[in-house]
Amino acid sequence: MSARYDAIVLGLGGMGSAVAAHAAARGMRVLGLEQFGPAHARGSSHGETRIIRQAYFESPEYVPLLRRAYELWDALAARTGTVLRAQTGGLFVGRPETPVVAGTLESARRWELAHAVYDAAEMRARFPMVTPRDDEIGVYEAIAGALFPEAGVRAHLDDAAERGAELRFGVRVGGWDAGDGEVRVRLDDGTVLEADRLAICAGAWFAKVAPDLGIPLRVERNVQFFFAPLDRDAVSPERLPVYAVERDGARMLYGFPDFGVGAKAAHHGSGVAADPDTLDRTVRDREIAVAREALASFVPAAAGPFLRAAPCMYTLTPDEHFVIGAHPRHPRVALAGGFSGHGYKFAPVVGEIVAAVLAGEDPGFGLDLFSPGRARAAHACSLNFSVQGN
Ligand SMILES: Cc1cc2nc3c(=O)[nH]c(=O)nc-3n(C[C@H](O)[C@H](O)[C@H](O)COP(=O)(O)OP(=O)(O)OC[C@H]3O[C@@H](n4cnc5c(N)ncnc54)[C@H](O)[C@@H]3O)c2cc1C
Repeated sequence: MSARYDAIVLGLGGMGSAVAAHAAARGMRVLGLEQFGPAHARGSSHGETRIIRQAYFESPEYVPLLRRAYELWDALAARTGTVLRAQTGGLFVGRPETPVVAGTLESARRWELAHAVYDAAEMRARFPMVTPRDDEIGVYEAIAGALFPEAGVRAHLDDAAERGAELRFGVRVGGWDAGDGEVRVRLDDGTVLEADRLAICAGAWFAKVAPDLGIPLRVERNVQFFFAPLDRDAVSPERLPVYAVERDGARMLYGFPDFGVGAKAAHHGSGVAADPDTLDRTVRDREIAVAREALASFVPAAAGPFLRAAPCMYTLTPDEHFVIGAHPRHPRVALAGGFSGHGYKFAPVVGEIVAAVLAGEDPGFGLDLFSPGRARAAHACSLNFSVQGN
């Protein structure tokens, strides 16, 4: 039997790297386990950029966590001497009744967040590179911008290691058991590891690792596309904000200025089901053409020649809110999953919350929205105590 740890963190991607860092910062003896390498491109936390914003259209309930996430991202950047965030501003566009516009405004007003509302003419005047329709409005939030996820994962891993966490890569967890006094984690090579607590941060593999949870998770393939801009200056981070546009009931298009890697754009939610172990990584000409056409319809100067594509995965809960908190039947196990295509910006605050759950302390935020026990399927109650994932 190997050494005993205060906490094992299963998965060291966007969330697990943050959990490892925050648990180690509390003085816990942490072991992090990851099946691939550091900041890899086979999960959900790669592709150069992620949007961060505070006026949250998904629900105003996220705003306190977002405020804390901003503080923690900036503290991590200062501590590790890395650039993790660029404040480009954010422009959220559609007819007034579309969820992206109405929801952004609701959060902004509820929490008195600084924002401006532009009609189509004002939008064109301020951001001449975008082409809103006459009946569309834009909500602009100056504090919005981009995060750099590979750098963020590395910074959290470095921070965790510096604070004494042991991090192992290229090791796959095959199952776990939780008893009254300990958790036992079994690696695919047969090694068994013991700890007081376990945090499951398995991203798209979450349902394979915690199959008895009862919240059905759907994994979706979503592709990020990079195009060489036709006018690089027009789509530079100094001029073009991050943006999201919702039109005609179609999937929302979102995108970024060119940070030197091309102008990235993608649709939010493809609806194509995927298995994380067999994800289709081939990107077809037809997919590229659809993305380019959508980008050309809102930022024509960005939609030049195709550069590359990066398939990625969403892990969706039915209500598209996260799963964060203690496992409903295993109090020694903390869960952080189901981030439903909008979780990365929260990584450091999720890390802080899950570390508090592992330590048995009050996480300082109401977590009802994310309760792992919500909407449990009836059959889940009959599952027994010991779980063998995968
Ligand atoms: C295309 C795309 C665009 C997005 N855009 C945004 C955005 O603009 N803003 C935003 O905030 N969010 C966005 N998101 C969502 C966000 O990126 C994810 O919610 C977040 O990165 C998920 O982090 P995670 O830690 O849950 O998953 P991951 O980062 O994938 O980490 C899970 C880790 O667990 C490991 N693992 C799993 N099973 C095992 C096992 N058995 N043994 C060992 N290791 C294991 C995996 O290898 C992986 O490294 C986007 C997501 C995608 C796909």
